[in-house]
This record gives sequence, C-alpha cells and structure tokens, in this order.
Amino acid sequence: NPPSSLSQENLWQHIYTSRSSMDERRVGVLGGGQLGRMMAEAGHRLGIHLNILDPAGKASPAGQVASTSIEGSFRDEEKVLELASISDLLTVEIEHVNCEALDAAIAAGTPVQPLPQTIRVIQDKFQQKVYLQARGVPLPEFCDVPTLEAAYEAGRIFGYPLMLKAKRLAYDGKGNAIAKTKDDVAAAFEQLGGRDVYAEKWAPFRKELAVMVVRSATEVRPYPVVETVQKDNICHTTITPAQISAAASKKAMEVASEAIAALEGTGIFGVELFLMPDDSILLNEIAPRPHNSGHYTMEACETDQFENHLRAILGLPLGGTALKVGAAVMLNILGEGSTAETKMMMEKALAIPGAGIHWYGKGEAKKGRKMAHITFTGPSLFEIQARASAYGLLASFSLA
Ligand code: ATP
Ligand code: MG
Ligand code: MG
Repeated sequence: NPPSSLSQENLWQHIYTSRSSMDERRVGVLGGGQLGRMMAEAGHRLGIHLNILDPAGKASPAGQVASTSIEGSFRDEEKVLELASISDLLTVEIEHVNCEALDAAIAAGTPVQPLPQTIRVIQDKFQQKVYLQARGVPLPEFCDVPTLEAAYEAGRIFGYPLMLKAKRLAYDGKGNAIAKTKDDVAAAFEQLGGRDVYAEKWAPFRKELAVMVVRSATEVRPYPVVETVQKDNICHTTITPAQISAAASKKAMEVASEAIAALEGTGIFGVELFLMPDDSILLNEIAPRPHNSGHYTMEACETDQFENHLRAILGLPLGGTALKVGAAVMLNILGEGSTAETKMMMEKALAIPGAGIHWYGKGEAKKGRKMAHITFTGPSLFEIQARASAYGLLASFSLA
C-alpha cells in the first residue's frame, strides 16, 4: 500500500517506528502565522519539534519559536518536499495550501494530517457544502452560480438580501458580496470576479457560534460552545460558555461533531455555526486547523486546541476538552496603525487578574491585522466583565 492509503493504525505505527520516543518527533507545518506559533508552543511542552515553512521563515510568528524554519511558500511543491524531508509528519495552519504538493510528500513517504482529501473538500466552500449536505449536516440553502443569469435566478429562489461567496481563498469575509436587492446582483457578482462563485440564502441568525472539534483515529471530541462576535467580518470577541439555551448548546455540539465525523483523517477543526431565531443550528463553514474561536482553550480548557491537534495527528491519546474555569472571554487585538498604540491594550491587561496575553511577534501593526489576543478567565462572565471594564477593556462586551 502507498502511504496515502495507510490506515490510521498503520500511520501511528509508521510514526512510532520512524522515531522511537516522543521527544524526537518532528512535525512540519505549512504556514508560520500565529496559529503555527501557538502550535510550536504546545510542541515545546510535549517535547515535539516543529519545523515551519513560511515566506518570512525565521522572522515569521511561528519561525521565531520553531526548531527549524524554511523560507518559502507553502504553495511551492519543492519547498513542501524540503519541509517533508526534515519532518516525520506534515500538518497545516492554513487551508489555502497546495494539496498536490501534500500528495507528493505522501508519495515520498511523509504522512500528512489532516488528510489532503479533507483539506481539498474544505478549501472549496461550494464543494464543502455539497459534501456536508450529502451527509445530512444542516446548512443554509445554497446553489452554484456559474453565470450572472444564475445569480439572478438564485435571488428569485432565495430572496434578498442574497449572499454571494467566492468558492476559494476566502478569509475575513473578503470573498463575500451581499446583494441587498435585485439591483445589486450584477455589482456583487462582478466584485467577486464573476468566476467560481456560489450563492447562499441569507441566514438571519440570532448569534454566531463556534465549536472546536478534535478528531483522532478512533474518536471525535467537541469543545464547549463559544459565542463569536465579529466586527467588519473579523472575529472580535469570543464568549464561553455561549449565552444560549441548553438545548441549543447541545444541538450545536452535535452538529459540529457530526460534521467532523463525516470527514476523514485526524486533527483539530473549527466549526462556525449560526444560531437561528427558532433556536435551530446551521453550519456556516469548517476550518481544518486550529481556529481563532478556539484560542480561549489555552487558559480555559483541560487541554488546549494546539496541544490536542498535535496529539491527534501523532496518534497520541487525546486530552480533555472540558472547561476548567467558570467563564472565558477572548479579545482579539487588531493593529491600530502603530505598534505602540496596539500594545496599549496589552499593557492595560497586565493589571487584570486572570488575563492571559498572547503577542504574535508580527512586525508592523498594520490596521486590522491580528497582532495579539487576550483571554480573560474568571468564575463568571459577570466577574470578567467587571474586572476588564474597570480598565476600559471589553467596554462593548454584552451578556445579552
Ligand atoms: P473566515 O475569516 O471565518 O474564514 P470567511 O471569509 O470564510 O470568514 P464566512 O465565514 O463565509 O467568510 O462569512 C463571513 C461572515 O459573513 C460570517 O461570519 C457571517 O457573519 C456572515 N455570513 C456568512 N454567510 C452568511 C449567510 N448565509 N447569511 C448571513 N450572513 C452570513
Ligand atoms: Mg473561512
Ligand atoms: Mg468564517
């Protein structure tokens, strides 16, 4: 059998026999951003070496703390094979990677987790929805939009506002265009380049939720439900536990677990969900990697998302996912234009009991760039709000 069809048990054996003890394992990561950096930090605790591949190499957020960094694109097959040559296993911290290069790494004898076929399905949001719908996962209605005429037809069927999305390479809402009425359809379609577009029925959600799910060879384990608050399509805060009914919370964990159970391979996955006005749950999208909505797990859960990702892909026993504090609020620190201004938020947080600070080591604090995050933990959301608002942080945070 070629390594690509290794069963999970064989994969595990492959890793165990290629490296004798845990502290000699080398995991190669495609991408060197903050997710890779926090994965490397978890690796340090477990005694696992991380090698990263990123255009900024050693200067990238992950490169600063990794064992080895290769400078180059995670889309460049030659560089991916170079990373594979110094690693026992490859993984990703971004889904927009070159899956052919991952196939080539497998063919050359280095396993990859999550599996390239899983990354492929998720990379294309339309394929992802087709795949999940066929497996009974609840989604907003959607359809392919190969032409402008098809976009008008989607509007006739789904009504307005109508959500048009780019199938590939989307992040921070940059691949989305909303047509408020029929008159906006042509402009929205054009905005997305008029190619590789699909449509979604508007979801008038009450809240946005997220659930991290870790998948091993034998198990699918969800983390608690998080409420996510986006500003300008970028995650701003997350609140745990989500302030929703127990039934909705249970349903959210079920939908997320079922969706991840429907995939193949191992790793951590971020599942974005909509809580609808009738308390039903629809899935928005999956990320095949650690996720911003899972940062709170570092301070708040038995085992954080980064460590559980490494455990899952290396075939080690999974760690617990339960909340070990009463509540957690995560606040993203976005660039304000100057690094000094951006750091001010963190300096305020230093004075707050239960505030965990995570600086990503990015050079320029460009406006809107994710520079750091702070996680506040405490016995209750009420207590967290009281502590943080005394310092002018979490001013806009609301328990409603
Ligand atoms: P990310 O940075 O999370 O990868 P993305 O660019 O992939 O984001 P989506 O998650 O598809 O984009 O959408 C961004 C936001 O747009 C969602 O968080 C939600 O607020 C809104 N949105 C997405 N789909 C719909 C929909 N069908 N109806 C209403 N709002 C939607
Ligand atoms: Mg996305
Ligand atoms: Mg999203």
